[in-house]
Amino acid sequence: MRIAKVEPITTTRALRGPFDYRLPETMADAGVGSLLMVPFANRRMLGVVVGLAAASELPPERLAEPIEVLDADVLPDLVDLGLWVAERYCSTPARGLSLVLPPGYGGGARPRAARARTERRAAITDAGRAALTEGSRLGARQRIALELLAAADEVSGPELTAAGAGADVMRRLEERGLVSQGATEVRRRPAITSVGAKSAGVSLSGAQRRCVEAIVGSLDGEGPREWLLHGVTGSGKTEVYLAAIEAALERGRTAILLVPEIGLTPQTLGRVASRLGDTVAVLHSALSEGERFDEWRRLRSGEARVCVGPRSAVFAPLADLGLIVIDEEHDSSYKQEGDPRYDARAVAARRAAGAGAVLLAGSATPRPESWETMERLSLPERVDGRPLPPVELLDMREHSPRAGPLHPVARDALAELSDGAKAIVMVNRRGYSPHLSCAACGEAVSCPSCDVSLVLHMASGLLGCHHCGHSEPPPRECPSCGSVSIVRHGAGTERIERVVAELIAPARVFRLDADAVARHGGHAEVLAAFDAAEGGALVGTQMVAKGHDFPDVALSVLVDADSTLRYPDFRAEERTFSLIAQLAGRSGRGERGGRVLVQTLAPDAVPIRAAAAHDAPGFLAGELERRRAFGYPPFASLVAVEITGPDERRLIAAGDAIAAAVGPAIAKGSELLGPAPRFRRRNRYRRRILVKTLEPGRDAAAIGAALGDPGIASTLRGITLAVDVDPQ
Ligand code: ADP
Ligand code: ZN
Ligand code: ZN
Repeated sequence: MRIAKVEPITTTRALRGPFDYRLPETMADAGVGSLLMVPFANRRMLGVVVGLAAASELPPERLAEPIEVLDADVLPDLVDLGLWVAERYCSTPARGLSLVLPPGYGGGARPRAARARTERRAAITDAGRAALTEGSRLGARQRIALELLAAADEVSGPELTAAGAGADVMRRLEERGLVSQGATEVRRRPAITSVGAKSAGVSLSGAQRRCVEAIVGSLDGEGPREWLLHGVTGSGKTEVYLAAIEAALERGRTAILLVPEIGLTPQTLGRVASRLGDTVAVLHSALSEGERFDEWRRLRSGEARVCVGPRSAVFAPLADLGLIVIDEEHDSSYKQEGDPRYDARAVAARRAAGAGAVLLAGSATPRPESWETMERLSLPERVDGRPLPPVELLDMREHSPRAGPLHPVARDALAELSDGAKAIVMVNRRGYSPHLSCAACGEAVSCPSCDVSLVLHMASGLLGCHHCGHSEPPPRECPSCGSVSIVRHGAGTERIERVVAELIAPARVFRLDADAVARHGGHAEVLAAFDAAEGGALVGTQMVAKGHDFPDVALSVLVDADSTLRYPDFRAEERTFSLIAQLAGRSGRGERGGRVLVQTLAPDAVPIRAAAAHDAPGFLAGELERRRAFGYPPFASLVAVEITGPDERRLIAAGDAIAAAVGPAIAKGSELLGPAPRFRRRNRYRRRILVKTLEPGRDAAAIGAALGDPGIASTLRGITLAVDVDPQ
């Protein structure tokens, strides 16, 4: 007897498989990774085979047979990976496996699988050619069709219809044996926008060659399996990735290139696609279901051997994996925020190790974790030896807000742009004005459902909450004291856009933030317009600092360098450093040279000073010392338990109960912090318990077990709980 161990794909957390099913002779082909429809508690359910066995603990009469084996499957390696993710991130097997299913096979009883698209195609037969030359009797439309077909190997149904030969005409020709018709599959290929400088088969520099040689050595089985490529902005890291991918392909292996967010990095995708052609597939959420399905199948069948995409592409169905590249490895978007809360970098490391593949993580501003734990390769200089642009700190402590949001030096620099030189201006807030308050009593205008200020948006004329979407008209008078003097504080992208527009007119300003992107249909469109413009400025949120390469950018301005520093998070320093360094990296990539201006209230802060000096190694050394002293990653791991609920008193009680239960369950050397309140959001109060641990696997399991205790369960009614391993 063959038994399939099947994990049902369901959202029910309590349902823990795998469950045994008896495989009949007709399902002899089913193996690990097969997708089945199985009967489950009077329902049909999609299931994944996670193991095979010769016997079951259950008596044979209690074993059901699957209903059918579907004609799609999952690679066995990826079944392992999905289950590993589930365990590592305290999720369920079903949710872990959902990550590796073919597109369209989500949860639910009836997978709504996307289908291949086929198209009618016709070709002329010898008899058809003869009919044309011999002047056989043909209708006008029949003649048109045959002439069209005689001139080409094959013509598609739509083309024939457009020429006047519809399905009827073609059927009659087919009946007379003058044409043959068939259906072929048409691939839906996602469009790839090309933005910025191209990579036209460059010859590698000595430093690049040394990096590639080291990686190729690893591909051939010598030396480290994981590399960190630290290369300053514009040092040619992408060329190293491309050469490494080519080397993997030459060795008959496949490769994955992870990028932070595909919309923000159209250039990387464009370069890879133009270099490697049809062997590249992309997988990301903005594709239509049909496109995703077709790209997935090209990867699964081996027709495409390189997958480019954001974090989910780490699950690309590639066999013989030789290399996983993580571009901009410091980017926080590699962490998934929904369940399972996986970190694609950790998943990539696990997948590479399992497949015997090489891991290559690259960044100008690596994470302290990677700096400490990985072997390094380095590209210390920009291509062509161009200098990194000088960074000037503009001290805003002496600047009156009444003089506007920009320092006079920044205003002058923008006003003096000429000859097609461009600027990038970053301000980390959307909208016009991030705070409004009453001049008489100081009352701030905040969201009724969240503990945050409402942001004034000029485009809509409304105040909006960036956490729950609430919006309302600006108040005419203070709701608390009735005074009519409501003051606006601070500047968001909309306000900076106006100020910059006045300074650089008649050159244009392009805005890149979530609002603008929603209106203009995508980041790539905004970036392409900025790229094509003669001069001008790009104003936006963090999006403007991500990896773009525009040779005409001669000036970068950071309006508020302290915004990231104010976050109560141990990664605040790292984020601030990397944001400034990345923004600086956009400037001075061409002949024009570059200049970077950073407005700050804390010009002496360590990350700001280090970024101004382009000193990543110095910053990382200091940051690692600090982390070691306080027991933060990479010297310990973090596991967070987050609870939310509408009733604050009950939430506080639940938090205390969880802390009391978790405290004794975790390892001796582990430390429990909290429960600490976090700001209320969408009318839900929130608290967080943080565990610092040297044994994350053990403690995550212990926390899971403690939370499953019936005594805790009763205090959790009406409360939502999430466990986050390696929170960001
Ligand atoms: P990074 O990813 O490190 O910021 P890029 O790979 O984007 O750097 O390279 C910056 C620019 O330099 C790109 O326009 C790229 O085409 C060009 N470039 C890279 N390597 C070379 C090389 N060896 N010779 C000439 N140009 C190069
Ligand atoms: Zn007031
Ligand atoms: Zn709100």
